[in-house]
Amino acid sequence: MRRRRILAAGGVLVGAAAAGAASRPVDHGELVGRARDSSEGGAPETNTETLLSDTVHETTLYEVDAPADGPTAMIFGGVHGDEYNGIDVAREVIDWTPDAGTLVTIPETDRIAVENDEREGLDGDLNRHFPAEEGPASELATGIWDAVERHDPDVVLDLHRSLGVYGVHQEYVGQALFYSPGADGESIAATLNDEAVPWYLPMHRFVAHESHLSGPLLFHETARELGAASYLFETTNFLLDREAKNEMTRIATAAVLERHGLLETGGQ
Ligand SMILES: [Zn+2]
Repeated sequence: MRRRRILAAGGVLVGAAAAGAASRPVDHGELVGRARDSSEGGAPETNTETLLSDTVHETTLYEVDAPADGPTAMIFGGVHGDEYNGIDVAREVIDWTPDAGTLVTIPETDRIAVENDEREGLDGDLNRHFPAEEGPASELATGIWDAVERHDPDVVLDLHRSLGVYGVHQEYVGQALFYSPGADGESIAATLNDEAVPWYLPMHRFVAHESHLSGPLLFHETARELGAASYLFETTNFLLDREAKNEMTRIATAAVLERHGLLETGGQ
């Protein structure tokens, strides 16, 4: 496995460092800033893997191991190729340094769909290819699932974007966090509402939904088969520009990683 160069993050500290931050136990914008600064806590070990090599679906997996032991989290972007928030943020996350554990990211899970800027790639809708007790339903799904089983994550976050808002626009599921039984969707949705949703967008407050796991979605399968605490995040195109969607996605990612012990607040 090839070693990936660690980029020193010249990044901007994003997010909710404004009024009231001192009263909060965790500021996830600050956590993102710290995760981007790989100078703390010793050098992580990084690896990349080429998945589905020699197929049209070839895509790259990035792994960052913190010196401290901890859980393994897998982050997926681009399961749907036109949902930029997940792709953009997953591409950032490959340069984040966890405080503990292992952070595994696939930014362009359906790479053909990402390149074509379309929801579905050559094999159709990847997020319907993990039916219960049947095994993966396509070549792409099989290759992705092989990687999932090898890394055996404790935590899974699949990043998506809808067109509308759950409960407002029929059939749309934006501004929602779906989670497997036992995962902590409620507190992570509360964090998003506290830190990432502006007061003037009350319709955009996130709702958490526990999922029954009977469906064919990737996060269903990771919970069913591996017992991973699994989340599916959905922001929305409705009234949100690209950076607004990305910021909500970034805070959701930091909140999941903090809740499951990969990111920690420093010196508190
Ligand atoms: Zn999607």
